[in-house]
Amino acid sequence: MEKKPYVLPQLEFGYKDLEPWISEVQLQLHHQKHHAAYVNSANAILETLDKNRRDGVDGDAKALAKAFSFNAAGHLLHSLFWENLAPAAKTTLKPKGIFATTIDNEFGGFERFKKEFSQTAINTEGSGWTALVYCRQTNRPLLMQVEKHNINVIPTFRVLLVLDVWEHAYYLDYKNERAKFVEAFWNIVNWHEVNQRLEAILK
Ligand code: MN
Repeated sequence: MEKKPYVLPQLEFGYKDLEPWISEVQLQLHHQKHHAAYVNSANAILETLDKNRRDGVDGDAKALAKAFSFNAAGHLLHSLFWENLAPAAKTTLKPKGIFATTIDNEFGGFERFKKEFSQTAINTEGSGWTALVYCRQTNRPLLMQVEKHNINVIPTFRVLLVLDVWEHAYYLDYKNERAKFVEAFWNIVNWHEVNQRLEAILK
């Protein structure tokens, strides 16, 4: 198998399509600058590793691995994030299918889930993410906070839904009012994609 670099994914919607919840300028900047930077940095680290190995040079293993996990995880999280968003006109305000049933069983209802997810997101310290993951050891969907991009949870917990609450995700639109961004998020969740993720896990 031929090695290949990470690639910035195309969005499934136009930059204007998440308005008025996420503005064109905010979304374009987030995708083309912030996400792209993680892709480029992860690729640059892989090139450095290749070069060091070719030249027989010892790199700073600790620094390289740390920078790699930050940037590669940033790329993976943003990719999951874009896929679990959809224009309001093309999605619904509530989930359907097995995901809806799973949420009802775990949280006692969608409104309670929304409230817990929102509180988790609003109270994330500094830069981070909120993730709803699925744990196959307990057969439960679980809420987690992700610091920066450290998604150490991924090998054992599969991600169902993520929300980026770094300031770069909302500052142009909402300034410091993260809670307003979190409230807006509920209008543009791609429940079809979220349901498919759960179906794939349960298969
Ligand atoms: Mn981001």
